[in-house]
Amino acid sequence: MAELQIYSPRFIADQPGRNGRTVLVAGGAGFIGSNLVARLLSDGDRVICVDNLETGRQENIAEFLDNPRFAFFLHDVIEPFDIECPVDRIYNLACPGSPPKYQRDPVHTFKTSVIGGLNLLELAQKKDARILQSSTSEVYGDPDISPQNEAYWGFVNTVGPRACYDEGKRGAETLFHEMHEREGVDTRIARIFNTYGPNMDPEDGRVISNFIVQALTGNDLTVYGDGSQTRSFCYITDMLDGLIALMETEDCHGSIDDPVNLGNPGEFTVCDLAEIVLEMTGSECDISYRDLPQDDPRQRRPDITRAGRLLGWAPKVPLREGLVATIEYFRDELGRQQRLSGQ
Ligand code: NAD
Ligand code: UDP
Repeated sequence: MAELQIYSPRFIADQPGRNGRTVLVAGGAGFIGSNLVARLLSDGDRVICVDNLETGRQENIAEFLDNPRFAFFLHDVIEPFDIECPVDRIYNLACPGSPPKYQRDPVHTFKTSVIGGLNLLELAQKKDARILQSSTSEVYGDPDISPQNEAYWGFVNTVGPRACYDEGKRGAETLFHEMHEREGVDTRIARIFNTYGPNMDPEDGRVISNFIVQALTGNDLTVYGDGSQTRSFCYITDMLDGLIALMETEDCHGSIDDPVNLGNPGEFTVCDLAEIVLEMTGSECDISYRDLPQDDPRQRRPDITRAGRLLGWAPKVPLREGLVATIEYFRDELGRQQRLSGQ
């Protein structure tokens, strides 16, 4: 069992959150994770972040390090670990979310979802904590129905370049399901569709970050393929509301442990998105077309009926509104990076 090294000196181990709870966020230094940590701390929780900083950034958690209700442990979840204090909730967000990042070390990505997922499930069992898995719309692969609902089993290439992520997440869903059925672990599974907002890494490689950074730095926007493929983009605050609602909703229908889609059903082609970003940034850059990556899904749009019924949740922030805050974040972030590099 790994000995964890703590990097947050003011953390008080025997003092729970203002609301008496302790929440562990695996992957808490990443894009969604760091936004979730901020929300939980402001809600009064004590928060323990476990992250190996593979795609997460210290900048994302720097502001929490002086908070006595925040602990950061630099740790890879594929190694089993224990936490000394009680834990009430575990959000498993640990896994690179961007295709170029998760394809860099496919075996490690697969292990992160499956072995890391199992380690966190076993920790949840030991602590009697409720645990939420960040699954993904990628479990639907390149879907031949639209919108995608939870009953659709997906269309995934098991040996393509995206398989380490898609199949890892599918395997993790199986583990969460079986640990609930056989061991009684209190589980939740969120199938997250494309999400964007502040704290994304400018070099992340996903379409929203690439387009905004390209537009702000005067580079052509790189559209892969002919840009007719679609995605549905959910703003981070809506996603946090959905994740927390899924975590905190009690099981009155007897099926809350089954997967729930979370995403914004507004569907855009990649070309639409490029035009919107060019217009909103006031950029005069062009679009440059690149090869479509292998197995790139042609369409993605969530059916969120189940989330509405079980959680009373629906996203509120339309794409253009979420992009205003996201563009502002990237402007500030690029400025900060430029000042740091002394240019
Ligand atoms: P991200 O890459 O910004 O964050 C992932 C975090 O997990 C990073 O801090 C990274 O360092 C950490 N991590 C990765 N492997 C780890 C390991 N083995 N041990 C410990 N920490 C590890 O990605 P994100 O967009 O914030 O996504 C968070 C979660 O949500 C991921 O599980 C991702 O699969 C899922 N998800 C995200 C989206 C999206 O659009 N953002 C969509 C579907 C699913
Ligand atoms: N994409 C693009 N240009 C980029 C980055 C991505 O055209 O610079 C495309 C990508 O091929 C995909 C879509 O945008 O069709 C969304 O890609 P992203 O990596 O953000 O997420 P995912 O493919 O996992 O949905």
